[in-house]
Amino acid sequence: MREFLYVFEWDEHNLAFRRVGWSFRRWCVAAFRLMVVGASVGIMSVGPAWPVWERFFVERSRRHTNALRTEAAEIAKEIAVLEESCLGYWYERAQRFYRPLVGEAPMPESEWAGHMGGAPGTFSDRALYRGRRLFAEYQHLHRLLAAQAERLAFLPCLLPTEGVIVSGYGMRRDPFYKDWRMHFGLDIAAPYGTPVRATAAGRIRLASWDVGGYGLQVEIDHLNGLVTKYAHLSKTIVQPGQYVRRNQIIGYVGSTGYSTAPHLHYEVIERGIKVNPQRYILLPQDVR
Ligand SMILES: [Zn+2]
Repeated sequence: MREFLYVFEWDEHNLAFRRVGWSFRRWCVAAFRLMVVGASVGIMSVGPAWPVWERFFVERSRRHTNALRTEAAEIAKEIAVLEESCLGYWYERAQRFYRPLVGEAPMPESEWAGHMGGAPGTFSDRALYRGRRLFAEYQHLHRLLAAQAERLAFLPCLLPTEGVIVSGYGMRRDPFYKDWRMHFGLDIAAPYGTPVRATAAGRIRLASWDVGGYGLQVEIDHLNGLVTKYAHLSKTIVQPGQYVRRNQIIGYVGSTGYSTAPHLHYEVIERGIKVNPQRYILLPQDVR
């Protein structure tokens, strides 16, 4: 028997009703009912007030959206400035200066615009694309320039000693034999003992006396098909097999061999053929 919240049981011994405690199931049912009631009350109180809530939420998200929009516009402006002043500058520089310097054709206009390899959608995508493209471009240019610098280090380009060119490459009346002969080098008159320098990096091929008239001579193999020869030296300070760099002193001016006065006889040999060394004097003497 139940009476509101209480449950009673008939007691046969005492012939009277006795109150008993709640079972677990009853506790569960009561809790569930309480929840249903609570939820109903909640819905009833929030429901009619919904338009107010909605206005609050909508207003809040609108404010948020506006703030984001302003921020995005500012970022867009900054990216546009960056793209113009920085990316644009380095693009132009690569196009007009570095690419011609390494002998490459300019980058196609369409590549810079991003028409190739997936057209970028928004302005920020485009700036990102251009930034990445330039990064790759400069890595490429750096590799090419490094290779070019390496090649140039081995290219003879200086006058090997400080002096006056007294005789060039070509036919001349020989100062020793007094007849017309081909002169295969450049004669540079300089005081006895003036330093003689390697005109480019290379490996010493020869540093010895020549019985043929060159006297004490040095030959440098530039490892690119070019050999330079320095003759009539008074002294040499290098050994065959040794590597030298451009400008390194290899010996001193003298008058050994077939020579009438202290001077340096300088030859440039292109794949076995003696050519005019003037073609390989590319820098003024004071640039060292
Ligand atoms: Zn000579």
